[in-house]
Amino acid sequence: MSDEDDRATDPSEAFGLVANETRFSILRALWDLSERRERAASFGAVRSEAGVRDSGQFNYHLDRLTPEFVREVDEGYRLTEAGRRVVGAAVSGVYTDRDVTVGPEPVGECPGCGGELELRYEDGYVLVECGDCGRGVFDMSTPPVLVAECDDGEVVDALVRHATAAFQRMNRGFCVYCDGPLDSVVEPLVDADDDSDPVVELSCRACDRTFRWSVAAGVLDHPAVVAMLYEAGIDAREFPVWGVFTRLDRDVRVTGEDPLRIEVSIGVDDARMELLVDGDLTVVDHERVE
Ligand SMILES: [Zn+2]
Ligand SMILES: [Zn+2]
Repeated sequence: MSDEDDRATDPSEAFGLVANETRFSILRALWDLSERRERAASFGAVRSEAGVRDSGQFNYHLDRLTPEFVREVDEGYRLTEAGRRVVGAAVSGVYTDRDVTVGPEPVGECPGCGGELELRYEDGYVLVECGDCGRGVFDMSTPPVLVAECDDGEVVDALVRHATAAFQRMNRGFCVYCDGPLDSVVEPLVDADDDSDPVVELSCRACDRTFRWSVAAGVLDHPAVVAMLYEAGIDAREFPVWGVFTRLDRDVRVTGEDPLRIEVSIGVDDARMELLVDGDLTVVDHERVE
């Protein structure tokens, strides 16, 4: 239903309103005051917390933040949801911490050449690529705050869990960038020179970004697969998506073109699940084979 024109404030105008150090101090002050469970904060309390001496200047900037980011209520001022999002995004480091890097850390065997897959964090992405042939098997936007807030010994695990959760959320249909709805379309054509799987392409209706991954990864959170993994001692909530290449035995084949049908066979230990997937990644049939 929504069209850019229907929105109350132009995005570039909204970003312009917070592109100022004093205004960000005011948002952060309101955030900190509301953390102490004060529903609203008085003009004086916010000014003191924000450290703005000049009352006129403070008043001017507070006024510019209203009503998009700050709302005036009977008891004083409070953040809107947009105001909380701005503070959260700033704390996440996504706009500022450009040089944070982690890795490379070995995470398994390359499905292409048998070399070592390596996990790295750079440029705001978790990347899993082969150190030998260069093949990339996974990338996911991940905020730098995880690296900043985790001890050295836990940072790789935190990055893996965040990337896995973000992937699972996208598989359920929500864009990692804008939270808009994603549409899934299975692409049956595979380059004849390439040994990679047929892929599903997910495109965001709102921001137009597209994402692609193996159809086998796309069915990892089907309950029948989750149950099979659980019996094999694997908790799907913590199973990284590249595990589909390093830990599972998979086979993905096109079995019908009109309508499109893809057979995905996933094996772990002695168990195997065969799933029949249609053109928008819906599992239309599945069978456990031993
Ligand atoms: Zn390789
Ligand atoms: Zn989007």
